[in-house]
Amino acid sequence: MRNEPLPPDVVAGSPAGRATLSSRAGALDGPRQEPGSLIDKYGRRVSYIRLSITDRCDFRCNYCMAEEMTFLPRAQVLTLEECLRVVSTFVELGVSKVRVTGGEPLLRHNVVWLLERIARLPGLRELVMTTNGSQLERFAPTLRAAGVGRINVSLDTLQPERFRQITRVGDLTKVLRGLDAAQAAGFDRVKINTVMIRKLNDDELMDLVDFAVGRGIDISFIEQMPLGDVGDARDNRFFSSDEALARLQTRHVLVPSAESSGGPARYWRIPGQQTRVGFISPHSHNFCDSCNRVRITARGELYPCLGSNDAVQLLPVLRAHPAEQQPLRAAIIDGMGIKARSHDFGSQMNSPQVVRFMSMTGG
Ligand code: SAM
Ligand code: SF4
Repeated sequence: MRNEPLPPDVVAGSPAGRATLSSRAGALDGPRQEPGSLIDKYGRRVSYIRLSITDRCDFRCNYCMAEEMTFLPRAQVLTLEECLRVVSTFVELGVSKVRVTGGEPLLRHNVVWLLERIARLPGLRELVMTTNGSQLERFAPTLRAAGVGRINVSLDTLQPERFRQITRVGDLTKVLRGLDAAQAAGFDRVKINTVMIRKLNDDELMDLVDFAVGRGIDISFIEQMPLGDVGDARDNRFFSSDEALARLQTRHVLVPSAESSGGPARYWRIPGQQTRVGFISPHSHNFCDSCNRVRITARGELYPCLGSNDAVQLLPVLRAHPAEQQPLRAAIIDGMGIKARSHDFGSQMNSPQVVRFMSMTGG
């Protein structure tokens, strides 16, 4: 066996470290149990989880975070072992797709340790990641080797000054180099995610599509959601998928496609091109009826709906029962009972009722 880094919370050779590692091995090698248990009261089956492994980020995108942020103390964040326990329990319960996100997931120390183990879970079909791309130049080949199949890179503009205005601190050239590295690393798919912001990047949507077409990669446009208080950054900034589609159709023929990537995007194809153009439209084309996913925050909160404040706290269960799976399984199944039928983002753009930032919940 090659020498693998231990997660930062496990001290090699310590009794605590050994105990945690062996209980993890038991959990991972055990049979898949109760598949199909993750059905909510509206009959929707949950097969997809998004796990935020850190609330920290090296950017401060103005629609996602406030300028001044306070991040969680380390003791309140799931350890990598706890993350693995949570994911393996969901997979035992029938989840087949995991997205690792944040905050910026590539800032989490030893993230590759976690990814390698998630990728090997029996029953998992897809391990994917969303990143801002700032660390991707360094990480892309390792992520691919660890078993990450697809990668989404957030990119809202191709203009360096504008990039800095939106991210407050980010460097566009680093992200573009990260995108190059991701394409070279041979992921099954690389996709750009663009949040549409009126008067900030709505004049660039066609350029972004051309950029994606030029690289033969996918692009999805996302309608902004009212998550967390970001000051006045959302006022009059909403830009809808329909408006974007109409604009793009002045340059490209876009043919609706029935393809799905297992998430909320609806896709269009440009004939003769590899690129799929997706729209994630929580406001204008509500997709809650077919919702198949839940989110787990870095603090171990299970949020069955992005647009609701109802959550199940997994961290106390994990720490109270370090060697027993049943309490965690029961807590996760309980979470299905509080999954909201639908969000109500439409009425909340300037007065968000969901107070946590997207960086906290994980996008
Ligand atoms: N830091 C990584 C990144 O930016 O890709 C991963 C986490 S980020 C929260 C995940 C996705 O959520 C990004 O594509 C980001 O643009 C999007 N996002 C953040 N805040 C949003 C909001 N209020 N409405 C819609 N999308 C948002
Ligand atoms: Fe960080 Fe991603 Fe939020 Fe931007 S969208 S502040 S990169 S977590």
